[in-house]
Order: sequence, then structure tokens, then C-alpha cells
Amino acid sequence: MELFDVYQQYDIAPVRGSGMHVWDEFGRAYLDFYGGHAVISIGHGHPHYLEALREQLDRLVFYSNAVRNPLQERLARLLGEQSGYADYRLFLCNSGAEANENALKIASFHGGRSGVIAFTGAFHGRTSAAVQITDNPGIRAPLNHDMDVRFIHMNSAEALEQALRERPAAAVIVEGIQGVEGVVEAGDEFLRDARALCDCFAAMLILDEVQSGYGRTGDFFAHQRSGIRPDLITIAKGMGNGFPVAGVLIHPDIAAKRNMLGTTFGGSHLACAAAIAVLEVLRDENLAERAAAMGEILRSAVGSLPGVREVRGRGLMLGIALDRPAAPLRKALLQTHSIFTGSATRTDTIRLLPPLVLTEEHAMEFAGAFGSVLSSTFQSATA
Ligand code: PLP
Repeated sequence: MELFDVYQQYDIAPVRGSGMHVWDEFGRAYLDFYGGHAVISIGHGHPHYLEALREQLDRLVFYSNAVRNPLQERLARLLGEQSGYADYRLFLCNSGAEANENALKIASFHGGRSGVIAFTGAFHGRTSAAVQITDNPGIRAPLNHDMDVRFIHMNSAEALEQALRERPAAAVIVEGIQGVEGVVEAGDEFLRDARALCDCFAAMLILDEVQSGYGRTGDFFAHQRSGIRPDLITIAKGMGNGFPVAGVLIHPDIAAKRNMLGTTFGGSHLACAAAIAVLEVLRDENLAERAAAMGEILRSAVGSLPGVREVRGRGLMLGIALDRPAAPLRKALLQTHSIFTGSATRTDTIRLLPPLVLTEEHAMEFAGAFGSVLSSTFQSATA
């Protein structure tokens, strides 16, 4: 059997990782400024994380949600303490898309509506149809029968107000910072307006923090700088540092009904052990603070390089917008300097999503390499 060929890939096969680096099968080291797509939060192979996983492996890998799982309760407690959302409830699942599906369902069940407002440039996942082909009316929210999606421009309170006035919506869903688009921020003022408008029109505000959460931007969640409290917050990626685990944080006013949500693997014992270890490391090593500080160092090291138009984002979620296509630069960074970076829908943008254990030396190594590929691509373009 061969693999279904859907991914655009570099011909590199990492086989080992530690901290900010991965090594390929020939022993070549790569500096990871991509974090496996914002997944590696506490660094590759963190000893505390590995120990927690090994211990749990020896005890119990999985039992289904038909029984109580004290690790889920411990994870919820820790996540509540560290995120500032101790009064919210947690539903655990397996991926970012699934977390968003569940958040939308909760909003739709709660308000009995089927409309969703999303924003141009948004990325919330790739799943689509499983519940439509499931013959069990009890688990279908109104939007599963008749989903009405509207895209409007982000950062325009007027556009949002108009859309909400036009037709009722179950939910407005927004990324804390749009990642895949190329690190585009939802402004603090806009988030506050969105909160007020959702209250006024009885729509739920869902913050997708799948990429921007877990300390990456310097706050536990990117939206927290604005001071708002969403109704629902979705998390995944950095939560498990590579072990698939995701969740929805749910406002205490939203009532749970038996069976409205569910998943076979969600919140397994091993997944919870991984997620707990990640939170412990984030807390004990002050990684959110570090992300904020290292982000500033990176921003000032690359912001004034010739060819850089702007640096968007915060902490260790940065989008470097260039005066030229980003793809050749990313290729040169990888081939010549062994540095992984991320792409974006905006083709002029390089995305940086490194593990939060990045040091000043790593930041300087990146800036030096980036300056050198910028001047060499500029020279070859003008030669
Ligand atoms: N939401 C955001 C903001 C994302 O960036 C992604 C993935 O990149 C997703 C949701 C989907 O997550 P997953 O690939 O785990 O389903």
C-alpha cells in the first residue's frame, strides 16, 4: 500500500528531537522555527513530558468515557488555574477541527439557531459531514440540519453588526490571531465590540485559540489582552506537545445535556497525561513570559532587515511579510541553514511558530540566517 498523496512535503524525515531541534536519519540537525505547525509548545522530547507519558503507558493507555477518568478532572483543574478560566467547563476531544465542530454544536444547541458568522481569511479545520450521515436525531444540533455560514471582514464592528441584524446567528467564530492566513490579529477593540454585539444579538462568541493559545502569544490565550470572556474557547495543537488532544472551554451559563457531545478517544488517559505534563512545564518554566520576551527579541532582530515590510503577531506567533514571495526564502533557510519555518495563505509571509523554549541564541541564529537569505535572494533577483 502507498500513502495517499495529499501533502506538499520536503524530502526530509526527522527521526529524533530535543528542545528546539530535530535530527534527520543522517544525523543532520534542523532548528525548528515551525514547531510542527505550532504543536510543539514545550520543546521536543522534554524530560518531564516523556517521563509522564512513560509512567502513564505503564499504568493505563485508554479507557472510554463510559467510566470516570480522574486525569480528565486534574487536567480541567490545572487548565482552569493556568488559563484564568477556572469557572468554565471542559469538553475533551482530539483535534482542532473537532473542537470547533463541538463548539459550534454547543452554540447551536444552546440558542436553537443554525447561523454562523466567520471571517475572511479564517481557518478552523477540515471536517464536514459525519453527523449528517448519522441516524440519531438527539446528537444533531439545529445547524447540522441547515447550516447558514456567512463570511465577513474581520476587524469591522459595523460589518458584524449589520450581519447580526440581518439574520440571527448561533455563533460568531474568530481566531485569537488568524494563523494560516499569515498571522493577522483580531484587534482588541474589535474583540470587545464583537463581545458586546454577541451579547446584544444573543449569539455565542467562540474564540478559536487552537493555534494562538497555550502561551504562544505571551498570554495564555491571545484574546485575553482585550479583556473579553468568550462563551466558548477551542484548544488543540500546543495542548499535547505532539500527542493529539483538544478541547472546548465552556462558559458556566451553558448547560450540558447528556449525549449532546461525545467521542471515543477524547480525553484518554495517555492524552491527559501529556496535556497535564505540558501545563506543568508551561507553569514551572514560565514559558508564556518567555514567549513574550523572545518574540520582542525576534521582532527587533528581523523587523528592520531590508526586504521585510512588516512583522505581524505577538510572542512566538509571528508573520514576517516580505516585499517578495516567501517560498524561495523558506527553501533557502531550510537547505542552506537547516531551519524549518511555516508558510501562509498570504504568499509574501513567513510564519514563525517555534517551541516556547526558544532562547536568545536561537533567535539570533535565525536572524543571521534570515538576513543572509534575504540578501542572497535580493542579489539573485537583481543580477
Ligand atoms: N483552528 C486553527 C486556528 C488552526 O490553525 C487549525 C489548524 O491549523 C485548526 C483549527 C484545525 O486543527 P486540526 O488540524 O487539529 O484539526
